[in-house]
Amino acid sequence: MRTDVIYVDNNATTRVAPEVLQEMLPYLTDYYGNASSMHTFGGQVRKAIDRARAQVAGLLGADPGEVVFTSCGTESDNAALLSAVASRPGRRKVVTSKVEHPAVLGLCKVLQERGYHIDYIPVNAKGKLCFDALEKMVDDETAIVSVMWANNETGNLYPVLKLAEIAHQHGALFHTDAVQAVGKIPIDLSRSRIDFLSLSGHKLHAPKGVGALYVRRGTPFVPFTVGGHQESGLRAGTENVPSIVALGKAAELAQAHMDEENTLVGALRDHLEQGLLSRCPNARVNGNPEARLPNTTNISFEYIEGESILLLLDQFGIAASSGSACTSGSLEPSHVLRAMGVPYTAAHGSVRFSLSRYNTRAEMDLIIEKLPPIIHRLREISPFGRGQG
Ligand SMILES: *Cc1c(COP(=O)(O)O)cnc(C)c1O
Repeated sequence: MRTDVIYVDNNATTRVAPEVLQEMLPYLTDYYGNASSMHTFGGQVRKAIDRARAQVAGLLGADPGEVVFTSCGTESDNAALLSAVASRPGRRKVVTSKVEHPAVLGLCKVLQERGYHIDYIPVNAKGKLCFDALEKMVDDETAIVSVMWANNETGNLYPVLKLAEIAHQHGALFHTDAVQAVGKIPIDLSRSRIDFLSLSGHKLHAPKGVGALYVRRGTPFVPFTVGGHQESGLRAGTENVPSIVALGKAAELAQAHMDEENTLVGALRDHLEQGLLSRCPNARVNGNPEARLPNTTNISFEYIEGESILLLLDQFGIAASSGSACTSGSLEPSHVLRAMGVPYTAAHGSVRFSLSRYNTRAEMDLIIEKLPPIIHRLREISPFGRGQG
């Protein structure tokens, strides 16, 4: 098994922080009670869940009563949108963006099949939202506007506070998929008009399979799962206690170290980006450098395939990601880069590097050393790339 990996794919998932693992372990061994039980043994577990809820609320600037634990970011996204359309039966429109995660886009497709009208806000070449289009889309028929806080592929940040205001001017609800933003940038929901916010444990150094949905106090909510009265009746199902405890600890750690980490991780990202751009001809950054997560860079190496780059990087134990969605088997370039109008020759050769606090400068230097010769070699054998460096 490979453990000496240089892991720069943190927008796909993150390692569990050692402190987080320590915190959750007792809930897999000694404290296995059911939080709904009457006895003290169960009560200890209930207290652990309450503590985690306060920790997550602290990171969001929310009230603990506004945090609902879920199984993942995808469930949170689904729960928010489905609740909004169910609680606003007279409104048959959903407004979202072209660059959302499949967790939102896939659900919107299903809603469309059920007769809802979905409007997709376009973006410009840098991935910024076209506000003119957006303002025409949101109206009195709109049940909810859903726009991500940070894009998983480019790291682009979106002006969700302003978007929430626009939604409310038309009586619509506002949801943000903040899975990539939570823990990476400061968030204070007490000063916002955001109704729903989704987050996921495994994107901030907690395990996979746990997430949370912020539901603003007073926002109507129709539960996604029904049955027991866990989570104050908002999400039925016996709680995933160890993972909830882990998510709480991860939120606390993220809050405590955010400024310092942003600076360090941002400097590593910039070092990597500069190093690669200065050594690789015909390379360009995708996204909006003026408003971007500190940990992400998405670089297109023109005239070659991102997948080939990844395979060769993998031989050096470097784990990154490409923007192409091979899920369809068609090697279609990512919907995000297509929405930005990135030319095919560039979109195909895109590689995403997403860092975390566990990366080092030596790792960045190794990538800067190994990648340029890979690009050169691939261009030599590419029918379009010869002579391009
Ligand atoms: C990872 C991710 C999700 C899905 O979260 P899961 O916990 O994996 O279901 C949703 N949105 C964004 C932006 C993501 O990056």
